[in-house]
Amino acid sequence: MKQRKVPMRKCVACHTMKGKKQLIRVVKSPDGEILLDRTGKKNGRGAYICDDLACFDKACKTKALNREFKMEIPIEIYELIRKQLEEDSDR
Ligand SMILES: [Zn+2]
Repeated sequence: MKQRKVPMRKCVACHTMKGKKQLIRVVKSPDGEILLDRTGKKNGRGAYICDDLACFDKACKTKALNREFKMEIPIEIYELIRKQLEEDSDR
């Protein structure tokens, strides 16, 4: 079985390079909305964070997404995404 090359992306919180499957994607939509993108196919500028709540918390504390998207992101948005991640981890 031939292994496909996995595209690597950098986590905005801990700056580790990882395969896309080990990361979550957050996008800034063309309307300026910040959304969790589970499919990895949404339009907009994307940022990647480890699929790990601890790392997301780090991004939250350091406001890594604000820097990444060059905009002020309300804490509510971070909390909303965190909640979605928590629900996913109950699988
Ligand atoms: Zn990370």
